[in-house]
Amino acid sequence: MSTTIQQPDAPVGAPKSQEMFERAARVIPGGASAGGRSDLADYIVRANGAYLWNAEGKRYIDHLLSYGPIVLGHADPMVNNAVKRTIDRVDLNWVGPQANEVELAERIVSVLPSAEKVVLMNTGTDALQHALHVARAFTGRQTIVKFHGHYHGWAGQLGIGANFDVEPGNAPPPDAPNSGGADPRDADTVIVLDWNDADSVRQVFAARGAEIAAVFTEPYLHSYTNAAPAPGFLELLRELTTRHGALLVFDEVKTGFRHHLGGYQSIAGVIPDMTALGKAIGNGYTISALAGRADVMDLLGTQVTIDGTFYANPYGAAAALATIDALEAGGIEKMWMLGERLREGLARAIQDAGVTANVTGVGSGWIINWREEPPVTFREAVDADFDRGEAFRVAMHDAGILLPPYVITDARIAVAYTTDDIDETIEAATRALKLVS
Ligand code: PMP
Repeated sequence: MSTTIQQPDAPVGAPKSQEMFERAARVIPGGASAGGRSDLADYIVRANGAYLWNAEGKRYIDHLLSYGPIVLGHADPMVNNAVKRTIDRVDLNWVGPQANEVELAERIVSVLPSAEKVVLMNTGTDALQHALHVARAFTGRQTIVKFHGHYHGWAGQLGIGANFDVEPGNAPPPDAPNSGGADPRDADTVIVLDWNDADSVRQVFAARGAEIAAVFTEPYLHSYTNAAPAPGFLELLRELTTRHGALLVFDEVKTGFRHHLGGYQSIAGVIPDMTALGKAIGNGYTISALAGRADVMDLLGTQVTIDGTFYANPYGAAAALATIDALEAGGIEKMWMLGERLREGLARAIQDAGVTANVTGVGSGWIINWREEPPVTFREAVDADFDRGEAFRVAMHDAGILLPPYVITDARIAVAYTTDDIDETIEAATRALKLVS
């Protein structure tokens, strides 16, 4: 018989990491309900602010932050209290608009430049799949353009090309997660290009512009490495899609509510037709959104189905409203300031250690690229010294700094971080870099 799983403080007698992994492997495929989760061999029993604790009592400064949702900090009391106030009043019901739903949609419309109308959903994949359906219905076209290495959720055609998986001779990098539910049979309506390669975008539009329904892109690449758009690249996408009657969709699942309440589009000054939001919008609660031009969005619920049972759940919406309040009250500025301090410290440590590497990122995001030059495309990002990167990750893990499990995936910080957390991370990195140099 199984012992009861104790949470959150894991008192004496609770299962330890090894035992929990063995139990998980017996009943859950791969030992965790999300592929990448079983790659970090800790069983976490407590989360607070910038920290996670495993069952053995080891504390980590968490730079994974659930791949993005935790933007304020783990178990944020303001967010949790907002959710508690909501669940004392209402639960999920399917009768008309919900107060939190309307308020959150209004807030998103007021802060996100591309948002005239908003639908609230549960996951980033939901928002991007609906964007795909809407773009096809709106334009009456099938073909989509996307970029290598841009992860747009686990489902269907948007997963194609995340890891070169449909191109013969382009094996995925050794430590890349798979690209979800992509089916190579769908490849004829998906054109996958190199991010930041303006010429290839121009060529594709010149040859096939009339059949393209939409271009999907992260406006700042976070899925693998951290790469800024080349000067003029987003503007070019905007110009070509407009000229050819296609839609421009920004996947701001990682950038939205993290770098700017108005998304990276507010920083770049390029406004897409639709924007997918997820992750950080609810600080870990389940909520996502698709926002966009009213004439495009109005297809949802009419020509394109939107009947998700748990869409606009009041708990997620309450969490998002509280998250926006905290981000507006200086949270985003604090993350930018601490992110800058971290990237500068890491760059110094890399230089001192004499290691071939560099650090890139924006706002709260950061990554060490284990190569001479910062990568600009996904092809460059995977052309890296994976062995050294993995040795660094393990050394950091030993030192109590939790990094993403894959060498080329991005790390980040949260509002709850202090300058001490940043400096502890830099000191650990300085030692780890010397170890791997
Ligand atoms: N887009 C981007 C840029 C992402 O990073 C992710 C999640 N890693 C998604 C979409 C999918 O979001 P979800 O996992 O919530 O479906």
